[in-house]
Amino acid sequence: MKNEMKTGCSGTVYLVGAGPGDEGLITVRGRKLIEEADVIIYDHLANPVLLEYAKKECEKIYAGKENRHHTMRQEEINSLLVQKAKQCKTVVRLKGGDVYVFGRGGEEGIYLNEQGIPFEVVPGVSSAIAGPAYAGIPITHRGISRGFQVITAHNQNGQPADIDFAALAKSQDTCVFLMGLTKLGELAAGLIQAGKSPSCPAAVISNATLWNQRTCTGTLETIEHQVRESSLMPPALIVVGDVVNLRPALNFFERMPYFGKRYLVTKVGEEISFLTNVLREQGAYVTEVQTGEIKFFSDAVKPELLSWADWIVLTSRHGVEAFFASAKAQKIDVRTLSNKKFAVVGRKTAETLEEHDIYADLIPMSFDSESLRKGLEGAVKPEEHILYGIPKGGRNKEISILREQYSVQELCLYENRECCLQKKLQEYDGAFFTCASSVTRLLGKLKEEELEPFRTGRTEAISIGKHTTWELERFGVLKIRQALSSTYEELLMAISP
Ligand code: SAH
Repeated sequence: MKNEMKTGCSGTVYLVGAGPGDEGLITVRGRKLIEEADVIIYDHLANPVLLEYAKKECEKIYAGKENRHHTMRQEEINSLLVQKAKQCKTVVRLKGGDVYVFGRGGEEGIYLNEQGIPFEVVPGVSSAIAGPAYAGIPITHRGISRGFQVITAHNQNGQPADIDFAALAKSQDTCVFLMGLTKLGELAAGLIQAGKSPSCPAAVISNATLWNQRTCTGTLETIEHQVRESSLMPPALIVVGDVVNLRPALNFFERMPYFGKRYLVTKVGEEISFLTNVLREQGAYVTEVQTGEIKFFSDAVKPELLSWADWIVLTSRHGVEAFFASAKAQKIDVRTLSNKKFAVVGRKTAETLEEHDIYADLIPMSFDSESLRKGLEGAVKPEEHILYGIPKGGRNKEISILREQYSVQELCLYENRECCLQKKLQEYDGAFFTCASSVTRLLGKLKEEELEPFRTGRTEAISIGKHTTWELERFGVLKIRQALSSTYEELLMAISP
């Protein structure tokens, strides 16, 4: 740190709201600050996935604060913020929901102000509003509720709060209670005693906006019993008011096809997988694991090889990208390709080729290397030469079959290099594998107890094709679904609900 030795230097502290749970519900500014932070001090309600946006060298400190398991006292957090800022660091204080909604953000801001440390606040989406919304409950609704109150059921010291039930009972406002799960019975009784109808609708939402969101609805009279029956866990919030009745119409989240499902998606390269995007869009919880990174070989494409070839075969999106990257690095003029024919393995590869303004001459009916070989046998004349793009170390027995009839040269275009896995994995409903090497790299690294869900069938594997399936079988995976053809669309079809 260039300014570390200078006295009076200070980094800024950003009090950032992490949103209610779902990692997509943080603000754009909040995420940008996480990416820039040198230190992040986070609470248990902030989704830990958000920490993955941080720089590698960013220091991440857990400040805890689960009910009765206070990891750090507020004074300790305050002085930590100051201490880190005085080392000229950019500090993000990441809190669940909004910073000021029972988040003690004000106390931290006041302390920083007293200490002369610059700070900024980035508001977050509060669970008080987003939680009900994700359970299909609008916090206000024309003709039903003209306002809302957000109330804590516990005061500063964890004691039951002094709630003005009479005022709440009189009003038509929607009431949202935070930190109230253990006090649910007392809250409901308090409202009824103060004159609220026992049949007033109530809902309890646990783990709102997350894959394990659960909602229980009833009335003031019944809700405590129902919640106990369904053993809802904290964090949970309580909603009281007629707006709860709108849930059947507005419950978009719990109705999603993959709501409540957890998937693991293996991928090569950093880019978010197409599979992840589709699954998340449809309500699933997805963890991505990168098993490899693609390195292009810039000297692969040689002018003399190109003038020899009549056909160029490319078997993946990466192959196409690597081919053109290498051609560019070698300053190969696009006109060199004017009399070449291109064969690709499938639709995705063809689309990538189209981005380079070339429309494939051959796409096999079924997207695998055997069909590609058969397609080539039907299209390539005996005297024509085939330049066959492959990844380093890729085994392809189809090439030797082609060699019996044709003159074939392999063109090693890229390497799928293993990269480190350091994610903490949970248990999943399914795990997607788009190549055999991802199976070897992931399952080969798991401990016996982590492999157990795969071996007992609690986690099923979804495989892109037969090579991947064989590798899964080698690891003793019990339930395997194989895509009908080797496309992402078919992979998704394999688990379609
Ligand atoms: N600042 C936070 C609230 C902190 S108080 C916010 O704006 O959301 C902590 C309480 O918030 C929990 O006891 C619970 O009542 C509620 N809460 C936070 N996240 C929640 C979630 N994902 N689901 C249900 N309740 C949640």
